[in-house]
This record gives sequence, C-alpha cells and structure tokens, in this order.
Amino acid sequence: MPITPAEIDCLVIVDLQVDFLPGGRLAVADGDAVIAPAEALAGRFANVVMTQDWHPADHISFASQHPGKAPFEMLALDYGPQVLWPDHCVIGSEGAAFAPGLKAVERAQLVIRKGFRRGVDSYSGFREADRQTPTGLAGYLRERGIERVFLCGLATDFCVAWTALDARAAGFAAVVVEDACRAIDTNNSLAAAWAEMEKAGVSRMNSAAIG
Ligand SMILES: [Zn+2]
Repeated sequence: MPITPAEIDCLVIVDLQVDFLPGGRLAVADGDAVIAPAEALAGRFANVVMTQDWHPADHISFASQHPGKAPFEMLALDYGPQVLWPDHCVIGSEGAAFAPGLKAVERAQLVIRKGFRRGVDSYSGFREADRQTPTGLAGYLRERGIERVFLCGLATDFCVAWTALDARAAGFAAVVVEDACRAIDTNNSLAAAWAEMEKAGVSRMNSAAIG
C-alpha cells in the first residue's frame, strides 16, 4: 500500500544544485536522474523544504584552500576528519543555483542554506559539521508539527545521509527515498552511510510507494 503524505510529513529536497549535476563542479554521477522523482514527490507533499549548499569562495572544505592537497583527500580539522572537495556551490554563483527550471522550488516553504561559515562545512541540513551549531531546521519543523521527514536529492552518502541521521537525532522519523537520490561514493562512503543510517533507524522507500 502506498503511503499518502499527511500534515505531519515533510519532504526535504537536499542540494539539488547545478554544481552537483552532470557538468557541475562536483558532479554526482547520474545526478540529474533524481530531478523527475523529486519533482513528482514535491507535488505529493503539503510540506516541502529544500537545502542549498552555500559556501564562501575560500571555504575550508575546498582542496584549493590547502596547498598540496587534492580533491577527495582527507584532512583532519578541529571538528574532525573532512573530505576535501573541488570548489563548489560558491555563494551567488551559477553552480550554487537550483537545477534550472526546478518546479519544486515553488513548492518549497523554506530553503535552508548551509556551509556559509568559512571554517565549518555542513553536509547536514540540521547541524553544521562541528556537530553543534544548529541551522534552525529542527525548530522550524517542530513548530510546524512535523513528525516525519522524507529525504531525496544529492548526494545519498553525504548531505542526504547526514541530514537523515540528524533528523533521527532530533526525534523525527526519517525515510530516504532511494530512487530520488544518487551517491558520490568515495572511499566506500555509500556503504558506510547506509550502515549508519540503518543503525539509526532511517528507513528507505521508493518514490512509487509514496502517492
Ligand atoms: Zn559543500
């Protein structure tokens, strides 16, 4: 039986931005395949929130800021291990914009921008990578009476997974809509992310089961 989204449900569309799509600066393979299911899902939910990766040009997660380091290498920062990325989603740039023509933007009631502090990354839509600084999303969802979030977007093993894990930590039920996500999968990150999500009680579903 398909699930019908109710008032307590919110769709969270994660980082559906030009730089994460094929041709972008941090392209996720097959990333554009999530657009159609994300659009369809957005039409089925009364509550829609989007996240937007939003970095200053000298952001600490960029390999370009660390001489001798290359993208996808790891670096130990004060707050923990950090994957170094190609420059991406720079504030105000074309690459930081949502996928062109994305209708879900019109359905979204809130856009959470994240990673805007130079010295801290933020995969999660709830908490920055120091694992302490809230974005305000948990409070927003609570005030609106949301109890369950459905997640889709890019990328499964980073921003989707961290957002799902933090949703659980904040007391929400969390469902990852698998066919509406794609992964980066560097250093076994996809399997590791799923293992953690399963442990935390994040469930998975296909978009056909939500109608
Ligand atoms: Zn980023």
